[in-house]
Amino acid sequence: MSDWLNPSTLDRVEERRTDPAWVEALWAQPASLVLTVGDAAVAVAPEGGLDPRPTSGRFDPERHFLLGLVGGRAWFAQGGEHGLTSLRSIMDGLAAADLQVAFTGVGLATWHATSAFCPRCGSATRVVSGGQARLCEVCGREQYPRTDPAVIVAILDGDDRLLLGRQPSWAPGRVSVFAGFVEVGESLEQAVHREMAEEVALDLGKVTYLGSQPWPFPRSLMVGFSARALGTAFTAAEGEIETARWFDVPELRSAMASGEIVLPPHTSIARRMIEAWLAGTLTTPSPRT
Ligand SMILES: [Zn+2]
Repeated sequence: MSDWLNPSTLDRVEERRTDPAWVEALWAQPASLVLTVGDAAVAVAPEGGLDPRPTSGRFDPERHFLLGLVGGRAWFAQGGEHGLTSLRSIMDGLAAADLQVAFTGVGLATWHATSAFCPRCGSATRVVSGGQARLCEVCGREQYPRTDPAVIVAILDGDDRLLLGRQPSWAPGRVSVFAGFVEVGESLEQAVHREMAEEVALDLGKVTYLGSQPWPFPRSLMVGFSARALGTAFTAAEGEIETARWFDVPELRSAMASGEIVLPPHTSIARRMIEAWLAGTLTTPSPRT
């Protein structure tokens, strides 16, 4: 789970972006780039990879959102609708820095597109801090991009088998580890225990933190854990989990090779958790906790 566990390649310039003149001057620099993004979609070059363009024309703080600096060069995002490509369909091919920019741009632009009005008084808001916030000038409330935490859990049994399941809406053959949103007033660990009780009726021992990553569909923060099930008998929640199954490593490799099952995309934390388990490097709780 390397890239998301290290310092970001994107410098978000939190200290300076509150100065509108500084942000506008950054837009005017010849090296600065703007990436067109939409709902879960980005501008992609014909040969693949992101297709940012040099910034040009007049800076519009309502449309041009500063993502930050990558290697000293400014990246902006702007909303668009036409000629974009699904981010999910290309994200496995993006380099780490481009993935960071694309996830930030899509998440930010989606938030702006749905946050035009003040949640307190209903008045129209305007963009401030180079796109990092919106201000209501009627009541003075500032609002910031929201991130919704979700837990994602690799459940192991006493023999280190991994439980994978599928939701009815997924593409044929797709299986994954289990995930769910954190509810108000709940800790991440409590969410893990609750979700696994709801989805597969399993009690868990100690829950171990693995790492996290953003997931801008539309604005999740996925927080990964491993946990040991206290038993192996599970019941898949009707309507929520279509099937579930314990795998050992050879069984999963064989099911992947035959095409019987399909794993989530490589850029997902779910995939990296499953790959770590396959490689024997997943951090797992001891069997007796
Ligand atoms: Zn207001």
